[in-house]
Amino acid sequence: MLQQKKPAILLIYTGGTIGMQQDSNSHALKPLNFSALKKHIPELEKLNVTLSSISFKTPIDSSNASIEFIQELAALIEKNYNIYNGFVVLHGSDTMAYTASALSFMFENLSKPIIFTGSQLPIGVIRTDGKENIISAIEITATQRNGKPIINEVCIYFEYKLYRGNRTYKYNSANFDAFKSPNYPFLAEAGVDIKYHTDFFLNPSKKKLQINKLLNNHIACLKLYPGINETVVKSILFTPNIKAVVLETFGSGNAITKPWFINLLKEAITKRIIILNITQCNEGFVIQGKYETSSQLKAIGVISGHDMTFESAITKLMVVLGKNLSHQKTVQLLHTVIAGEMTLYNKLN
Ligand code: ASP
Repeated sequence: MLQQKKPAILLIYTGGTIGMQQDSNSHALKPLNFSALKKHIPELEKLNVTLSSISFKTPIDSSNASIEFIQELAALIEKNYNIYNGFVVLHGSDTMAYTASALSFMFENLSKPIIFTGSQLPIGVIRTDGKENIISAIEITATQRNGKPIINEVCIYFEYKLYRGNRTYKYNSANFDAFKSPNYPFLAEAGVDIKYHTDFFLNPSKKKLQINKLLNNHIACLKLYPGINETVVKSILFTPNIKAVVLETFGSGNAITKPWFINLLKEAITKRIIILNITQCNEGFVIQGKYETSSQLKAIGVISGHDMTFESAITKLMVVLGKNLSHQKTVQLLHTVIAGEMTLYNKLN
């Protein structure tokens, strides 16, 4: 009988609780090295994959994730892209949704899985959630149909569910079930079998992979609250060298209608500062023009972020601005769905 070639998977360890141990003096959790981590999961040897692994030289707590860290991860995957059938990234859960979102925009026309996972308890702890997370993430990454991976996007696997990475946020720091994807269904669920919801998958791209490595972090966020004052708004909108601001509005994209506020936004837009409107609500979406409190935003050129998460809005801006396109093309791209990050329920806004 013809022996099927096992899928080749690269496991990348960047840090996070999964590989941490308590410091004997301070009792604080800090990252371990990768060989210590692997010792705790002998099951990895039994998986029906050809598994290779690589570790960041200095694994980090993901709260320390930076532009350079994200770029280092992207470069590592790029270097190995043609050698492996898929990638599993072990990453701290605190900022996993940001790095996963960033990679979804950086790897344009992806046709292989990049699946992030981690855990809430270190792998050396008896009740760890890390083992199941790693093993299932590898199994999903290795799943193929007709010799091709079934997943062609950047995902997060956590506590029995596979999510589109750029639709998630970390919503719970105490439960194993740490992530939510409020505006997009999960892609797979691991029970006795792994059930795939293929209707929700992104299709593999026929276009050539393009990796957008430059990230621009001249971005700020302006979260509205009743009582926010003019000085605060001004200082955020006119932060030196700022290129874009994520405006976190109320409800379906509503904001203050006072002239001082609208005039400041108008002035920023005239100076070619991009204003991207997302809602503070975890579920639902922005419809500029639905209420009087958002009609003016639309009229002055605030861009609707539809149902994007904050994590996606920030990282989409970083990648799109990193492309250094003309202002018009940048705006156009921000209105476009790049990696399944938003649903255009209302195209007019
Ligand atoms: N602080 C940790 C990190 O994000 C938490 C975790 O891994 O779950 O690196």
